[in-house]
Amino acid sequence: MSELRGVGIGLGVAQGPVVRMTEAMPAPDETPSSIGAEAERARVREAISVVAQELTARGETAGGSAQEVLEAQAMIAEDPTLQDEVDGRIDAGATAERAVHDAFAGFRATLEAVGGYLGERAADLDDIAQRVLARLRGVDAPGVPDPGHPFVLVARDLAPADTALLDLDKVLALITVDGGPTSHTAILAREKGIVAIVGVADGFTLANGDTVIVDAAAGVVTVDPTADEKDRAAQRAAARMSADAAPLTPGALADGTPIALLANLGKPADAADAVERGAEGVGLFRTEFLFLSSSQAPTIAQQRESYRELLEAFPGKKVVVRMLDAGADKPLAFLNDAHEENPALGLRGIRALRASEDILREQLTALAEADAQTDADLWVMAPMVATVEETVYFTTLARDYGLKTAGVMVEVPASALLADRVLAHADFASIGTNDLTQYTMAADRMLGSVAGLQDPWHPAVLRLVREVGDAGSRLGKPVGICGEAAADPMLAVVLVGLGATSLSMAPSALADVRHTLSERTLDEARSLAQVALAADDAAGARKAVADATAALSPHQKETTS
Ligand code: PEP
Ligand code: MG
Repeated sequence: MSELRGVGIGLGVAQGPVVRMTEAMPAPDETPSSIGAEAERARVREAISVVAQELTARGETAGGSAQEVLEAQAMIAEDPTLQDEVDGRIDAGATAERAVHDAFAGFRATLEAVGGYLGERAADLDDIAQRVLARLRGVDAPGVPDPGHPFVLVARDLAPADTALLDLDKVLALITVDGGPTSHTAILAREKGIVAIVGVADGFTLANGDTVIVDAAAGVVTVDPTADEKDRAAQRAAARMSADAAPLTPGALADGTPIALLANLGKPADAADAVERGAEGVGLFRTEFLFLSSSQAPTIAQQRESYRELLEAFPGKKVVVRMLDAGADKPLAFLNDAHEENPALGLRGIRALRASEDILREQLTALAEADAQTDADLWVMAPMVATVEETVYFTTLARDYGLKTAGVMVEVPASALLADRVLAHADFASIGTNDLTQYTMAADRMLGSVAGLQDPWHPAVLRLVREVGDAGSRLGKPVGICGEAAADPMLAVVLVGLGATSLSMAPSALADVRHTLSERTLDEARSLAQVALAADDAAGARKAVADATAALSPHQKETTS
């Protein structure tokens, strides 16, 4: 028995035999073209157009965000710059195959050099190149194998086109060697509820037919598990299915303490799904997602319509809207125009908004107008707040616009450490654990090589959360969590024990978190929080809490049965 580690996506667990993805086609040789440039160009045009149509068709079949991803891929395939690159190589004598291979490889290298979000798009390019090459060679595109029985798929990385159409009756789980938590594979796996672990560096030590348990919650692949381990995994999978089917009650601990379970959303169209999954409101609406591709600031009217649509989906419910969080991995052309060496430490979030105060004012105007037209309980908050002065600046401005509940995101250690001073002015705090972890651990959240440090279980991060929780309870102000940490059920309990009063997450995580919270009292959550705080590192905290929880379970069952 051995274990491999990676970044788990979602909380599922699955087991089965490994089947490895078919390897990519070999690179075409360098023999010059024998049919001439014009004929080679025509072949490329035909191949690219067929591949783009196929991608679009797959997107239509898959729907949802997979469709957006595949449409974007179809556009990349037909990108004129890329075509110019291919043509240039053909004009220099290359075959269509060689020209496509080299041009895509050049583009890939450029994306990888940029790194971050764009770097993680490199796998998308490889897939398009392979599809075009397969078409040129008249063979089937490499893809997901079909061994005729359910299996755990092991791949270097999965192309969006493959992830989107995975047959979930056959693919029990997914293990990828490459890819970080923000790769398309991860995003689509999360959305489709596929049990997945990405970035498993030793994944290729797995051979076809090996039996594995894929534990996404722990980020661990167990190879050749014992009968006992298989039984426990099967029990967990069954418990998870029953959590999914459980009634959509409001979030509460075993002793009845209410913990509102809210949704993280990026566009109003996703509100219906959140409501269906029992979200009690919205804990984070990422407004910048609406405008990532805009070159100009959106108008007040445009914004008002989007906000109105969002608020209308949650009558009488809390909806926390975050002001544009531009910069670093989410640059907005109209807010971040200067080059920065370290954009994560630059003019980001509230800093960028302050530098373009007219845009902030327009956003507040649009929100106030949408608020006046709807019945939701609108709260607004500023991202990346680092100082008390920024807190006063934002909350005063928001209230000037008639927005009655104004708070801040705690994502920078400075504002966590001064939480009592920050909360003296803000109506609430919402802790963004993704950035709080990045800044506490000095580990870029987009960089796979430091992913091990990007772990919100780290006691250093948890101590900062405790500062905010304590300040909130002393001052009687709500403290929410809206980073990915809230979607980890065991960590969610710890965060509540540290003082969080609400949890906001991707809607697909709501059922698991609702179920886990319902098994613990507030006293237990507090004692588990102490266990986590006392650990040396993230892995230690996770293990200590898992062990302490296992010790609590029999007592819980006795008292609740
Ligand atoms: C966070 O940083 O935890 C957060 C919720 O904001 P975002 O992920 O959008 O930066
Ligand atoms: Mg953030």
